[in-house]
Amino acid sequence: MNIVVMKFGGSSVADEDKICAVAERVVATRREGKDVVVVVSAMGKTTDQLLALARRIHPDPPRRELDMLISVGERISMALLSMAVQKRGLDAVSLTGSQSGIITNDRHSDARIIEVRPVRIQDELARGRIVIVAGFQGMSYRREITTLGRGGSDTTAVALAAALDGVCEIYGDVDGVYSADPKLVSAVRHIPDLGYAEMQEMAEHGAKVLNAAAVEFAKQSGIAIFVRRTDGTGSETIVRKFPPKAPGRVVGIAHEKSVRVISSADPGAITDGELLQFLEEQSLPGKQLSMHRFGSGPGAALVVSREFLEDPAALQGKLRERFGERVAVRGDLGAVSLIGAGITQGFTILRRSIELLREAGCESCGLHTSSFRITFLVPEARVEEAVRRLHSAFIESDPT
Ligand code: ADP
Ligand code: ASP
Ligand code: MG
Repeated sequence: MNIVVMKFGGSSVADEDKICAVAERVVATRREGKDVVVVVSAMGKTTDQLLALARRIHPDPPRRELDMLISVGERISMALLSMAVQKRGLDAVSLTGSQSGIITNDRHSDARIIEVRPVRIQDELARGRIVIVAGFQGMSYRREITTLGRGGSDTTAVALAAALDGVCEIYGDVDGVYSADPKLVSAVRHIPDLGYAEMQEMAEHGAKVLNAAAVEFAKQSGIAIFVRRTDGTGSETIVRKFPPKAPGRVVGIAHEKSVRVISSADPGAITDGELLQFLEEQSLPGKQLSMHRFGSGPGAALVVSREFLEDPAALQGKLRERFGERVAVRGDLGAVSLIGAGITQGFTILRRSIELLREAGCESCGLHTSSFRITFLVPEARVEEAVRRLHSAFIESDPT
């Protein structure tokens, strides 16, 4: 079989006209003789609206019920797209994540795909149908409906492409991956090809053009991801096993406008395990944990993405009950990350970026590095300026 998995994001299916445009594209691809599996996201801002609705009913909605609710967004798009394709004279069938055999663990709202059994999809393809799958959702071994974390339709597409031995194409409102978010920086550079590791760092630190778990899945199964614009105009980015093109250079700047930082001047709060156990009870995935006990002021800090902690004040209340004043939560910071293989091999880039941020009045109050990344925590109100300054210095001024 010549299978292509085409994923269309929320902006591509935001209204009736857009759904019809996607249907035209899907039909044209089928007419080229390909077996087409389509993965759809929820229409426009549907997921955000459903989450806001849930929070108006319950300030901290039970995760199981939340998954029941937000998985509905993708079911709406899959059914409408299937209708639009059938209206154009081709046979199509829509399937939920569980009907498609997407089996996950039972971590509601942030589940991981552990197995794909695409038997039903293969049967439908063999009947000559176009298969339209609801992205972002699966079913746990306990037969509970789960969702895969924000942006999780990308992961559905990669997982299906891997299981079906197909090509994975991600369509959205950008024609590929850029050196920064094009909505924020006007002089961005298009990146035609990118290795898994750099893309994964970009995605994990805020470049939501691709979901980080999707990139990890692609890396594990060795499949390439083609990122394109829905209307087919412009260029494309291929993410696959590429050796880094320019080791030691910054390829992109990613940012998270808002993060939460849970901190304590008492590292014991973390090392004795009690705080970690508490965070686990709250299903809070930490992103970057640091702890130190040397020098005069020991401390520990954990960075959590905003999507997992909308209401820092509520968490502060619970922390106070359990830990008194030992542990604090901050909700006024954002994160800006420079990405590039080998950029932390020397200290030149680190030194320059610290200087630049200071000059721009974006002084950071936290710093993390890995071999592919330097992340600064800066006040939320200064994030955009920090991205622009760093982009101008490390990408726009770099002739290569
Ligand atoms: P979809 O709904 O199609 O999944 P997303 O909104 O999740 O689309 O992701 C696409 C958005 O990602 C773009 O509109 C763009 O603003 C943003 N983005 C952030 N960083 C980057 C980057 N480095 N390159 C391209 N797009 C980026
Ligand atoms: N609809 C989900 C979200 O908004 C999944 C996705 O768009 O990929 O996060
Ligand atoms: Mg997305």
